[in-house]
This record gives sequence, C-alpha cells and structure tokens, in this order.
Amino acid sequence: MNVETGIRWMELFNEKVQAEKDYLTQLDTPIGDSDHGNNMSRGMTHVIEAIETQKPDSLEELLKLITTNLLSKVGGASGPLYGSAFMGMLKAQKEDNIPWSAVIKSGLESIQKRGKAEAFDKTMIDVWIPVVEALENNQLTDAVIDQAVESTKPLKAKKGRASYVGERSIGHIDPGAYSSGLLFHAMLEAEAE
Ligand code: ADP
Ligand code: MG
Ligand code: MG
Repeated sequence: MNVETGIRWMELFNEKVQAEKDYLTQLDTPIGDSDHGNNMSRGMTHVIEAIETQKPDSLEELLKLITTNLLSKVGGASGPLYGSAFMGMLKAQKEDNIPWSAVIKSGLESIQKRGKAEAFDKTMIDVWIPVVEALENNQLTDAVIDQAVESTKPLKAKKGRASYVGERSIGHIDPGAYSSGLLFHAMLEAEAE
C-alpha cells in the first residue's frame, strides 16, 4: 500500500458507501437506530473533502487525516470505532517494513480495545478478523469478504445497539460488518488497479 493506492482506496470506499447508503440504513433498522448509512456517508464525505484540500503525500498523512475526520465528524458507535481502526493502522504504519496484514491487524486491535467486542458478538470485527487471517495467508478475496459479512446473520448481538434487541438480532446482517465489507472490497479493487 502506498499513498496513491490509499487515496484510491478511500475514493472507492466512498463511492460504495454513497451507493449503498440506503441499504446500510436499512440494515440498521431492525437491529439499530437507522443511521448507519448517514453516519458512514457523512464521514466519508468529510474524508474525501479533506483529501482534496490537504493532498496528503504519504500514507501516514493519509491515515492521520482519515482518523481525524472519522473521529470528529461521525457520531454513534461507528465513528469512534472506524476512527480507532485507522488510528491503529497509523501506529503500525510508522514502523519500518511492516507488512500490510500487520497494519490491518493493528486496526482490528484498536477497534477491540475501544469497543471490547470479541469474535461472534455480531459486530464489524467479525469481518476484520477473517480478513486479517486471509491477508496473513495471502488469500484475501471478495468471496472471503462476502462470506464474513454473511456470517454475522445467524449471530445474536452481544455488543452495541443490536444487543438491546437480544434474540431478535438473529437473522439480520450486522450493518457495521457490511460497511467493513465495503471497505475491504474497495481495498482489493484499489490494489488491483
Ligand atoms: P450506532 O449503533 O451508535 O447508531 P452505527 O449505526 O453507525 O452506530 O454503527 C453500528 C455498528 O457499529 C454495528 O453494526 C457494529 O458493527 C458496530 N459496533 C457497535 N458496537 C461495537 C463494538 N463495541 N465493537 C465493535 N463494533 C461495534
Ligand atoms: Mg445506528
Ligand atoms: Mg446512532
């Protein structure tokens, strides 16, 4: 990953978030408060604006800009959690010759530090965990990502708003898992260009 590919990654993620804004909100309706589409859309609009005005010329600068915008401009759980993810990635990226899988893993660790979720609690980390594992084995594909997103459907939520509906969270895809899926689909697309 370099800064050009990183910028492209964010552009593609933004496109997907805006295109699927209503679907993200729809997912957040039975098990949440119907704002995930708006939260992600607002956050990514700010990220793209900041990229255009600040023109980051290193991956570190880019990761810092993403972190700041997501932490300060997005309310709800997802802003601080995605913000923490990019902050964790930034921290790892500062080390020399660190593999990209370790950067993403550091993002996952930051989400967990902030949100205290474990695997199978039906959150975004149920996508991040298999993605990190696949990256470590050089086997990340769109199918792996889709499968991870889908795997949240039968789970009963243990964290976040979805946990308030208990058993009724079963049978629905987690909205944050879906948006994380978009993030990693965008990453694969940017890397392939
Ligand atoms: P809010 O729930 O505050 O309205 P969003 O709707 O934007 O915020 O985001 C909800 C998503 O955040 C969930 O679908 C889930 O993936 C994620 N989430 C919530 N709590 C946690 C947590 N403690 N750890 C990891 N992810 C979480
Ligand atoms: Mg919500
Ligand atoms: Mg909310």
